[in-house]
Amino acid sequence: MTASHPTKRPTDAAHLDDSDVDLPPELLNLPWVDIHNHAHTLSWEDRERYALAGCRSMMMVASGYHWTPYKPVEADDIRFLWDDAINRRAAIQRNHFFEAKLGLGIHTGVRIENPDELLDAMDAYCELDEVIAIGETGVTPSQHVSRWDVDQQQAIVQGQMELADEHDLPVLLHTPNQSTDSRRSYRDGIGIPGYEKNTGLGADPVIDSDNPALESVKRDIEAMRDAGLSDRRVVASHADGNNTEYLMENTDCYLSYTIGHSWLIGVTAADVADAIDEYGPERIMIDTDCANVLRTDPFALKRAIFELYRYGIDEAAIRKVVLENPRDVFDFDA
Ligand SMILES: [Zn+2]
Repeated sequence: MTASHPTKRPTDAAHLDDSDVDLPPELLNLPWVDIHNHAHTLSWEDRERYALAGCRSMMMVASGYHWTPYKPVEADDIRFLWDDAINRRAAIQRNHFFEAKLGLGIHTGVRIENPDELLDAMDAYCELDEVIAIGETGVTPSQHVSRWDVDQQQAIVQGQMELADEHDLPVLLHTPNQSTDSRRSYRDGIGIPGYEKNTGLGADPVIDSDNPALESVKRDIEAMRDAGLSDRRVVASHADGNNTEYLMENTDCYLSYTIGHSWLIGVTAADVADAIDEYGPERIMIDTDCANVLRTDPFALKRAIFELYRYGIDEAAIRKVVLENPRDVFDFDA
C-alpha cells in the first residue's frame, strides 16, 4: 500500500502495482487473417465489422451446403455458388479494404447428383488468381435430405485433393464436430435457434461407428494420402477436442479452430490456448466460419486474440496463429 492516494480510506488502487503487469498494446493493432468464412453471404455491416476489427485478409468459402435452394442438388447449383462469389469478390474488397480471396469446394453436406461434372469444371477455376484454396470439403457422417454413400464422398474429396496437388493449392477440410451428450434437443418443428436449417430433413447417418465425426476425419486423411497431397497443404477446420490429438499425432496437417459460433460447436479461445500449450503454435490457426445462416460473430477472431493473451499465450505465438500461419499456407498478398 502506498501513501500516495488521497482517497478517504484505502481503495484497490493502493494495492495494485501497475509496474509488474505486462500489458500487450501491440495486440490492439495486430493484423489478422480469417481463412474460413462465408462473408459474401453476410451483410455489408458485418463485413465492415471485420475491417473495423483489423482483419487484413480473408478467404470467403463458396461450397455447396446451406445455399443451394433445390434438393436434390445438381452440379450447376454449386457452380452458381462459385460464380456468385467470383462475381462479388472484388467489390467486397474495394468496399472494405481487406484482402478478399476465395476457396471453392464441393461439400458433402448435401448429396450432389452429378459431382464429376463439378470436378471437371473445377480445374479451370483453380487457375484463377483469386482462388487460393479448394474447400471446404470433407467426408460428413450424415447429409441434408438425401444420403451420400461414404465411399463416394471420399472419392469426391480425394478428387479435389488431386486437383489441389496439381495446382499447388491448399485444401480447407470441413471436419465434423461431435455434439455433446448434455445438449437437449429442441421442440419438434422449431429447429435450432440461431441456425437456419431444417434439421427435420437430416438423413440417417452413412457412417456406422462409435465416433462418426472422427471416422470422417480419418477418411479425409486416407484420401489425402491416396491423392499424394502433402499434409502441409491441408488445413483441418473445425478442429476440436475430438480430433485434435489424432490430427496432431498422426498427421502433419494444420488445425484451424472455429470460434465464430462457439454456442453451436462448443470450441472457444480456451481450447486454442490448450492446443498451443500442448503442441506449440506451429500448426494452429483460428477461423470464424461466419455465415448468414448461423448466429455468428465477425468480432470473434479479434476477441480471441485478447482471450489467448489472458489465458497466458505469449504475443509471438498469437501472431503466429492469427497472422503468420494463415499467410504462409494460403499465400495471401497482404
Ligand atoms: Zn464454413
